[in-house]
Amino acid sequence: MDHQETSAELPPHILIFPLPMQGHVNSMLKLAELLCLHELHITMLLSEFTHRRLVLHANAQSRFARYPGFRFVTMPDGLPEDHPRAGERTIEIMLSLRKTGEPEFRRLMESTDRLSDVGDRRPVTCVIMDGVLSFSLPVLKEMGIPYIYFRTVGACSFWANFCIQEIIDAGEVPLRGKDEDKYTYWKKKEMDLMVTSVPGMEGFLRRRDLPGFCRVSDVNDTGFQAIKTETRRSTQARALILNTFEDLEGPILDQIRKHIPNLYSVGPLHTHLKARLAAKTSESSRASGSFWEEDKSCLTWLDSQPAKSVIYVSFGSVTILTRNELLEFWYGLVNSGQRFLWVMRPDSIVGNDKESQIPVELDEGTKARGYMVGWAPQEDVLAHPAVCAFFTHSGWNSTLESVAGGMPMLCWPYFADQTINSRFVSDVWKLGLDIKDTCDRVIIEKMVRDIMVERRDKFWQRANRMANLGKKAISEGGSSYCNLDRLIEFLRGMIV
Ligand code: UDP
Repeated sequence: MDHQETSAELPPHILIFPLPMQGHVNSMLKLAELLCLHELHITMLLSEFTHRRLVLHANAQSRFARYPGFRFVTMPDGLPEDHPRAGERTIEIMLSLRKTGEPEFRRLMESTDRLSDVGDRRPVTCVIMDGVLSFSLPVLKEMGIPYIYFRTVGACSFWANFCIQEIIDAGEVPLRGKDEDKYTYWKKKEMDLMVTSVPGMEGFLRRRDLPGFCRVSDVNDTGFQAIKTETRRSTQARALILNTFEDLEGPILDQIRKHIPNLYSVGPLHTHLKARLAAKTSESSRASGSFWEEDKSCLTWLDSQPAKSVIYVSFGSVTILTRNELLEFWYGLVNSGQRFLWVMRPDSIVGNDKESQIPVELDEGTKARGYMVGWAPQEDVLAHPAVCAFFTHSGWNSTLESVAGGMPMLCWPYFADQTINSRFVSDVWKLGLDIKDTCDRVIIEKMVRDIMVERRDKFWQRANRMANLGKKAISEGGSSYCNLDRLIEFLRGMIV
């Protein structure tokens, strides 16, 4: 066989490029593994910072070694090593890449002949990129490489961001007065006015439910404008991939399809991957893309708890609490009398001085009924029979993992897409309660009892129903299953 024939047989080579944050990397790694299972060649581009975290704490590196067509490459994110990359400052990751990313990306693509320098692989045939990284577009356009957007948020938040100009024109933003702190604008009556400018969300979306990016005092805010333009640019991509499923967000997906017809809803990706792995390889273990070490001792602790008795508390990878907020949550949980498993990342408290200041009664209450870890194997926790509800910050991955696991949610959204996700959880899907914009121990205590005791069965029934629809979506013939097959065909068809 001569070289010409060999290269003609090579599969498509896809570059997958997530925004270097935990939630984005998690879901795009799942898509990468799904495509590897279908024998596509994949290069995953991570920031150097993120790649180091993965190598330290996750099994992703060794896991992907089984796929000969897979490899990681890296580039800098432009931030200093000691930047927190958490809390409100996470937006700086995107802004920094917008400033410094293009020359780095160009160098990478040019010096490696479009990433064909290693092994038997074609130059990249298509890029699947996080739809907020448009700094790379000039390079792709010059090189004539097609690109597809992957947005790691739900359709609901994507669609609201898509409508930001209409929201501005209707005078429904800005939500924050100049110099107003969050506790002041949380209480403003205007926050409860209904939003009229997002088609399909009339009647249930209040201003306080709009994506957190709208909580600015000036519509010219750099981060807000960046989200607006990045989202609108999605229409220029060859397709859009969303980690969701039709029975969950069908009406909103239909709204998006009016502007972006080539839309693939392929979620929930974590269960979709599990199902295809089982069908193709009889493999059941899970790849981890965690940036922190997963503390599996919490699973042993859960084993010793009664069925449906524990509320799992986690606010994701970037939320930062003040000491006062931490105490309100803690008192609320301890006073509820319920058992809890709480993830407290080492960097999740402002100032990091929590240890020296924990009141004695809380410490005792925690020892009696609670367990804490720095980072949990969340998918396994949500599947554990001892867990009864998820107290979540409503990040999209956490929401979808909870939906797929049939787990009711108590939502305390922190920022970004979380404020709209929690409204869909409580008022559209009715899978839980939304306590946004308060942080009060009495309310938390009441809500924890409500979801764990008083209305537990009702929420469980609904959550089960939705989880079954999620299972149907990823089963053979289901919407996400067919969409993934169509997507793979679309990627194969891009070889010229
Ligand atoms: N996660 C985890 N262990 C934890 C907390 C979170 O594995 O202790 C994972 C979780 O399963 C999810 C991701 O981290 O896949 C968080 O993403 P999400 O979109 O929910 O929130 P973000 O961290 O982006 O705010």
